[in-house]
Parts: sequence; C-alpha cells; structure tokens
Amino acid sequence: MINTDEPADRNARFADGGSFAGRKLMPTGGLTVIGCVDPRVDPTAVLGLELGEAAVIRNVGGRVTPATLATLDMLARVVRARTGGPGPRDNHYAVLHHTDCGITDLTAFPDLLTDYFDVPAIDLAAKAVTDLVAAVRVDVEILGRTLRAGVFVSGLVYDVATGLVDIVVPPARVEA
Ligand SMILES: [Zn+2]
Repeated sequence: MINTDEPADRNARFADGGSFAGRKLMPTGGLTVIGCVDPRVDPTAVLGLELGEAAVIRNVGGRVTPATLATLDMLARVVRARTGGPGPRDNHYAVLHHTDCGITDLTAFPDLLTDYFDVPAIDLAAKAVTDLVAAVRVDVEILGRTLRAGVFVSGLVYDVATGLVDIVVPPARVEA
C-alpha cells in the first residue's frame, strides 16, 4: 500500500521538475476525455497526454451518465466564467472505454445500473453494458445530442491486453 510519504516524495520531485509552471486552466489540447476509474486505463498514461493538455472525467466504465452530463455542464460554466465565452469551437470530447471493464460484473445487479444510468429497467439493455463497441457508440450518441454544435466527439476502446486503442467512432462535429 502506498502511504503518504511516498506520494509526497514523488510530488517533491515533480515540483522540482518545474513542468507545472505556467499551465493554463483551459486544456491546451482542447481535449476532454471521459474514461474509467480502472487504474490500468489512466487516459494521461495510455494516450500519452501531457500535463495541461486535456481535461479528464473518470467514473465506473467511463460512461456518459446523468452525473457525467452534470459535470460537463459545470465544466462549460467554468469555461464561460473564466473566459467570458463558450470556449473554442474545435474542442474535442473523447469517450474512452476498455476491455475487461469491471462494470460488466455489475450486470448481476441491474438495480445498481438502472440507478447509475437513471433509466427504467426496460431501457437498461440499450446501455449495452456488456458490449464494448456498442457502449461507446451509445455514449458518443448522447454527447452528440447534448454538447453544443461545432465541437468534435469521438469514441475509443482501449485493450488492456495489448495496450492499444481502437478508434470505434472517429472524431465528428456535433451538428447544429
Ligand atoms: Zn473500467
């Protein structure tokens, strides 16, 4: 188990490195990733993102749930408060799911999943919890009808066995 000393030591080395200096609130890569909390799939690591390049939202499964949409809405409000506008049009939102995801273990507990997605039991199948590629498409579709026109949305699947990402839904602009 990592105690508090080790992260503090690592932080001291991080601070010494100086890479934190001058970073901006707005992600320099214009990218927001929605990914899973699984420790194997940290988007900054598997996508090679630099500090400050991307905003990352993580939950169980990397799913676009009502809570995810609430976070995205808050994020949009932060951007508006900080910059006075909606932010650049060429922002990109990437959904990142992965193989061997623990959310598939929860299909034995449909009540948990209906709460998580805030859907009636009859609509749970449409969330495609056990079908990785379909789940990515479902979540990209939700973003496509929720986010403002002009931004890009894409869907990726990361394979924990190979370390490779597959582009399931290439970046496409949200229509007006
Ligand atoms: Zn997962």
